[in-house]
Amino acid sequence: TVKNGTKQNYVYYDDSIRRRLREEKDVESRMLKALEMREFTVFYQPKVELKTDKIACAEALVRWQSQDGTIIPPDRFIPVFERKYMIDRLDQYVFEEVCRFLRDRLKEGKQVFPVSVNVSRLQFYNQDFVQRYVDIRDQYQIPPELLEIEFTESIAIDNALLMARIVNRLRQEGFSCSIDDFGKGYSSLSLLKTLPIDTLKLDRFFFDMSSDPERDMAVVEGVIELVHKFRIRTVAEGIESSDQVEDLKRMGCDFVQGYVFYRPMPEAEYAQVLDS
Ligand code: C2E
Ligand code: MG
Ligand code: MG
Ligand code: MG
Repeated sequence: TVKNGTKQNYVYYDDSIRRRLREEKDVESRMLKALEMREFTVFYQPKVELKTDKIACAEALVRWQSQDGTIIPPDRFIPVFERKYMIDRLDQYVFEEVCRFLRDRLKEGKQVFPVSVNVSRLQFYNQDFVQRYVDIRDQYQIPPELLEIEFTESIAIDNALLMARIVNRLRQEGFSCSIDDFGKGYSSLSLLKTLPIDTLKLDRFFFDMSSDPERDMAVVEGVIELVHKFRIRTVAEGIESSDQVEDLKRMGCDFVQGYVFYRPMPEAEYAQVLDS
C-alpha cells in the first residue's frame, strides 16, 4: 500500500521485496546445482481416450526432487528458470529423459504410447530449438509419432507468425503439436485458423461453471465441434469427477487427462501401469 503508505508500510514493502530477491537468488544457485546433480525427474500422467476408456498417450511433467526427498512442483521453479533464461536447459533435460525412457522400452519390446513434453514460450526465440529436438530424437532413435510438443496459447497470441513458422517446422519433422491451457487466459479462436496444430488442450478453468451451466456447456460443446472441423483433437485437462467425464463423452471430447483417471506418477510407476 504505497499510495497511502505510512513509514511502517514502506518498510514492510521494502523488506518483502528484499526477502523475495534473496529467496530467488538462493533458488537460482540451488537450481544450477540441481541440474548438475540430476535432481529433476519426470513424472508421467496418462491421457485416456474416451472412445475406448484406455490410455492413449501421456504428458511428461517435471518435478524437482531435492536431496532431502521433498518434491517441489514446477510452478515453484519454472518461472525462475524462465527469468534466468535457463528454461531451455531444463526443457531439454526433460525431453532427453523422455527419449531415454521410450528408447529403453522400445529396446525391450515393451508397450509404448506417445509422450508430450512442455516447451516454454522462450524456446521459440531460440533459432536452433527445432534442430536440437530433432537431433536428440534421432540420437535416441525415437519414431517421430511418439513425440508431441505442448506450448501455451499465450505464445501464439504474442507472436502468431513466428509461432506458425515453428509449428510448421516441427510438424515437417514429424512432431505432433498441441496448444496447452486453452481457455485459461484470453483464448483466441483465430489461433485455430493460423496454427496447424494436432491437439487442443482445454484448461480446467474452461470447465468452471458459472451461474448458467447450460450456457457453459454450450460453449465447451461448441468449441469441441468447431475444432473437430479443423481435424484437431481435444484433451480435457484437470478433470476430477466422473460426471464431467460423462458430459465430455456426450460432447465428443477425445481425451481426458485428470485425477479422475490418473495422477502424475514417477517413471517406474507409469511403466508398471503400462506393463499391467
Ligand atoms: P500443464 O502443462 O497444463 O500440466 C497440467 C497440470 O495440471 C499439471 O500440473 C498436472 O499435475 C495438473 N493436473 C492434472 N490433472 C489434474 C486434476 O485433475 N486436477 C488438478 N487440480 N490438477 C491436475 P503440474 O505438474 O504441477 O505442472 C504445472 C505446469 O508446469 C504445467 O502445466 C506446465 O505448464 C509446467 N511444466 C511442467 N513440466 C514442464 C517442463 O518440463 N517444461 C516446462 N517449460 N513447463 C513445464
Ligand atoms: Mg502441458
Ligand atoms: Mg494445461
Ligand atoms: Mg500450464
